[in-house]
Amino acid sequence: MHPEHRYGSRLPLMLWVLLSRRWVDGVPVHFFAIDHRDGLVLFDTGLDPAIASDPRGYLGSAVGVFFLHRLFRWQISPQDNVTDQLARMGHDVSSVRKVVFSHLHFDHTGCIDHLLHAQLLAPRKEWEALTRPHAERNWYLRQHVDRPGAQWTLFDMEPCNDPALAPFGACFDVMGDGSIVLLPTPGHTAGSVSMLLRSNGMPPILLIADLAFELDMLMTDRLPGVGEGSEAMRVSYARVRALRERLPGLVILPSHDMGTAARLTKATNSHAPAFESR
Ligand SMILES: [Zn+2]
Repeated sequence: MHPEHRYGSRLPLMLWVLLSRRWVDGVPVHFFAIDHRDGLVLFDTGLDPAIASDPRGYLGSAVGVFFLHRLFRWQISPQDNVTDQLARMGHDVSSVRKVVFSHLHFDHTGCIDHLLHAQLLAPRKEWEALTRPHAERNWYLRQHVDRPGAQWTLFDMEPCNDPALAPFGACFDVMGDGSIVLLPTPGHTAGSVSMLLRSNGMPPILLIADLAFELDMLMTDRLPGVGEGSEAMRVSYARVRALRERLPGLVILPSHDMGTAARLTKATNSHAPAFESR
């Protein structure tokens, strides 16, 4: 991606999209697998490698391909699909029970055809964005998400009685035991959610997807060059920082941060106090 995209720019969006020649190197496109006792849970599914091998076919429009090439350069191989990546982690894709989507942009919803056996959970507002006319202009590619046979469940946030989560006012408990809880974090898109993970032997982890492209940006209130609502983003940033005050040691992991993999490795190898699941 361009630095103007990642870190913001004083130039109007269309100008830097068309003129920027600078690139940020090595931006990851992470998705996450959570090994819960009731089955494997994914947070997003990453990119479909077909976007690099056949962008015209994947996007279905020449205009889309033009803007895609202006905004991104890919380094992705055919083996970077969700099934092969899970296999490299020692998991069979058939053991995935649920997939939760932070939002429904194309770089978080690849390879849904590999997951037709699983329950797919999406924020209701994101589904509304996906099914609007011309949703592809906002990087919602309905043809790759609304797949025949896919078992979608749309969820809304619910009142939340966990005092630690009070800054958010609402949440959605994915497994019913408090270990995987979704929190509303609009900003990048109106329906975006983050996932809080709490488990014995680990510090609490918050997967924030694209709320911030880098942890530092969230901590210093720096906005990126894209996003649906800068005011919503600032409010979500502040709520995440407030959560960090309430959950000491909270590890915050953006999906496109170069530091995420190392911080996750450190967190999952550390010895943290026990979490009492309900
Ligand atoms: Zn993304």
